Amino acid sequence: MKVPFLDLGLMAKEIAEEADARIAAVIDKTDFILGGDVELFETHFAEYCEVSHAIGVASGLDAIKLALRAFGIGPGDEVITAANSFIATALAVSSVGATPVLVDIDPDSYTLETAALNAALSGKTRAILPVHLYGQMADMDPILAFAEENNLHVIEDSAQAHGARYRGRRAGSVGSLAAFSFYPGKNLGAYGDGGMVTTKDANLAERVRTLRNYGSIEKYHHDELGENSRLDSIQAAVLDVKLDRLDGWNADRRRVAERYIESLDGVGDLILPRAMPGREHVYHLFVVRTARRDELQSHLARQGVQSLIHYPIPIHLQKAYAGMGWKRGDYPVTEECAEQILSLPIYPMMDTAAVDYVCDCVRGFFV
Ligand SMILES: *Cc1c(COP(=O)(O)O)cnc(C)c1O
Repeated sequence: MKVPFLDLGLMAKEIAEEADARIAAVIDKTDFILGGDVELFETHFAEYCEVSHAIGVASGLDAIKLALRAFGIGPGDEVITAANSFIATALAVSSVGATPVLVDIDPDSYTLETAALNAALSGKTRAILPVHLYGQMADMDPILAFAEENNLHVIEDSAQAHGARYRGRRAGSVGSLAAFSFYPGKNLGAYGDGGMVTTKDANLAERVRTLRNYGSIEKYHHDELGENSRLDSIQAAVLDVKLDRLDGWNADRRRVAERYIESLDGVGDLILPRAMPGREHVYHLFVVRTARRDELQSHLARQGVQSLIHYPIPIHLQKAYAGMGWKRGDYPVTEECAEQILSLPIYPMMDTAAVDYVCDCVRGFFV
């Protein structure tokens, strides 16, 4: 049996008829940039995230950058974020000219270690950028309390957590601003690049709306130096069709995860993902840990099972960040995870036979 890490084709097939009609309608209207479909999807996505405003942008990276810019964060400012994430999180901070200050992760949830916030605080700190990693939200209550106490903004990196909840609150509705990515492999993925900023604050929404479109609300009137970062109508049309299925697809991911957990509990030295109390996990990834990670990955590959590592090189050890003075040993939990974590295949249409086959292969490795 061959089990791919992710099968985007099956999702595309499920929505093909509806998506094709919506794409054809966009072409018919030649309504390509910030058109009616973008507005419609923004409205639907805001409703889904239980906020009042959603602003479509060009990517997840841009969504974080524009959120930082909406607060006027730039050179001389520091932003606290998690050491274990895709590089885009820290890169967004660097690209507005501010300095990312990393904190280690909690080994149970893989999200930002809130006990480490205090040591990362300085007179220059302007914001906290927690990452809802692998489909589970960061521990937001202590983060919000710390932010309130120290007068900091909170921006959620929700790129891996469309639909997740923390104590009843949806990802994207907890911080002052939140950033989503619609990269094809995310829980809600486009047929290309795309992103979204969500907020309950009308003024912040207006700021992001202006910045994404050349600093302009009224055509050819430019009130500030903005950017070109717009969601296009074809992507919005596809995303709008997919949004109707997101809750069902997330439930299917949970079904796959629960079967993995039931079947792999107690096998070898495997550490399985933990849905923390009060947090509704949407299993963007199913990440396990073992001291024999590389051997397990090769074993699975030989059996036709594709697995990936998220992420093999921590941000603080990337060549691009050599100038920051970060060194090995700075974030021990993140570093240990980089050597031990493995993401097993997970996607909504993954059938029971495939899940059971992966479990058999994993168990076979540990006997
Ligand atoms: C995917 C991702 C991003 C960046 O999204 P793009 O759309 O690829 O720019 C940012 N943060 C995290 C945690 C991500 O997984």
